[in-house]
Amino acid sequence: MRFDIITIFPELFQGVLECGIVRRARELQILDVRVINLRDFTSDKHRTVDDRPYGGGEGMVLMPGPLFEAVEFCRSQAVGSESRIVLLSPQGGLWSQDLALEFATIPHAILICGRYEGVDQRVVDSLVDREISIGDYILTGGEIPAMVILDSVVRLLPGALGNKESCLNESFCTGLLDYPQYTRPAEFRGLSVPEVLLSGDHARIDRWRKERALEKTRECRPEMVKKLFPRSVL
Ligand code: SAH
Repeated sequence: MRFDIITIFPELFQGVLECGIVRRARELQILDVRVINLRDFTSDKHRTVDDRPYGGGEGMVLMPGPLFEAVEFCRSQAVGSESRIVLLSPQGGLWSQDLALEFATIPHAILICGRYEGVDQRVVDSLVDREISIGDYILTGGEIPAMVILDSVVRLLPGALGNKESCLNESFCTGLLDYPQYTRPAEFRGLSVPEVLLSGDHARIDRWRKERALEKTRECRPEMVKKLFPRSVL
C-alpha cells in the first residue's frame, strides 16, 4: 500500500517512519510512504501556502492552489490504481478499527494535513473523498492524525506483523476489549500472575480470557457489549 502525506512539516514524520513496524513494513516493501512538502507546490518567492479568511475572522487558511497541485502530483505518480483522498479534520467522521480494516484493502491513500484554521472549503468540496477525525478535540495540525491512520493501517497489511494471529485477538477486532496480559516474572513485588495462566490448561485459559475481556469491556465500554449482545440485560 502506498501513502502520500501532504504537509507543511515533513520533518515531523521522520521518527514514525524510521521505527518499529512502520519501518519494517517499508523495508519489506509492504508499505510505501512519501511525505510531500506542500511548499514545493507554491509559486511565489516566500513559498506561501496560507492567507487570511474571506469575510474576516481569526487565523489563516490553507489556500486551494498548492493543495490541488500537490494532490494532482500524487495522483499522477500512482501507477494505475485509484487514489483515496483524505483530509484530516475535526469535522470528519471518526476514525475506527473498522475504517482501518477498510483502508488496509485500498492501494493508495493521499492524506492532507491541515494547519492553522483549516483548509479552503473548495478543497473539501472538489478534491477530498473523505474527511476523517481522530476524536472530538482540536489539534494544531493534521500530522498526528495522519500518523494515527498510517500506524493503525500498517499493522493490518498482510505480512506487516510478525505474528499473524496478533491482530485478530485484539481490542475492537473481536468486538470486545483485550484480556489482561502478563509476562515474567510470575511473582513481582508480592503481585502474582493469575494461577490459571500458569496451569497449562488451554481450555481453562481460553475461558478465563474471554471472561476477563467481557468483564473489562462491560466496565470501560458498556456500549460495546450492548452492540454484541443487544438483548442482554446488563
Ligand atoms: N478551525 C478548525 C480547526 C483547525 S485545526 C475547526 O474548528 O474545525 C487545524 C488542523 O488540524 C485541521 O485542519 C486538521 O487538519 C487538523 N486537526 C485538528 N484536530 C483534528 C482532529 N481531531 N482530527 C483530525 N484532524 C485534526
